[in-house]
Amino acid sequence: MNDELLIGVLALQGDVEENIKAATYALEEMNQKGKVISVRYPDEIMKIDGLIIPGGESTVMGLLIAIKNGLLDSINKVLQNRLPIMGTCAGMIVLAKQSYDRVVGNKKQLLLGALDVEIERNSFGRQYDSFESNLEISGIGNDFRGIFIRAPSVISAGPQVQILSKFDGKIVAVQQENIIGTSFHPELSGDNRMHKLFIELIAKWKKANNQ
Ligand code: GLN
Repeated sequence: MNDELLIGVLALQGDVEENIKAATYALEEMNQKGKVISVRYPDEIMKIDGLIIPGGESTVMGLLIAIKNGLLDSINKVLQNRLPIMGTCAGMIVLAKQSYDRVVGNKKQLLLGALDVEIERNSFGRQYDSFESNLEISGIGNDFRGIFIRAPSVISAGPQVQILSKFDGKIVAVQQENIIGTSFHPELSGDNRMHKLFIELIAKWKKANNQ
């Protein structure tokens, strides 16, 4: 794990700074050389080793991806190259194949279709819309403080999707090869284990691709 890694956080909308911080701390704690930058242009996307799509509002994020010159193409290209990507909350929704909103039903929005899951947006309802809970996450362990903010959940997942965590019977973290999706906001918990898991994926991918 000594290749220098360049990690990008998609900076269109949502909690970009928090992800930059969490990934930077994770690199430090792992003694892994690397840098975390915000990215929003195709040439930036093409040069990173891993991408984080933060939480925010997935319909707005999708719209911004669609209208920015060349951005959708560059994201699709890195997805084809199997670049490691972690989507948190709205970021997971944008990566998904299908989604509907529990509150307003179907809504037209851009989905990248890379993560073979169906998402229910705002899955925990209005009353219970923001909360915290300790989670057990496979590959990480237990007592991960999950922070859920108008969070989605995974309603169904294809055969190549591994379920990493469930809360209240609902799937809240998944992995499909190099793609990780979480319903919660790992960048807000002060616990960088999820970002570390992602960085391990990036380091492996870079090693396999560079030599
Ligand atoms: N409810 C938002 C959406 O559906 C996601 C919320 C979040 O990212 N915290 O896009």
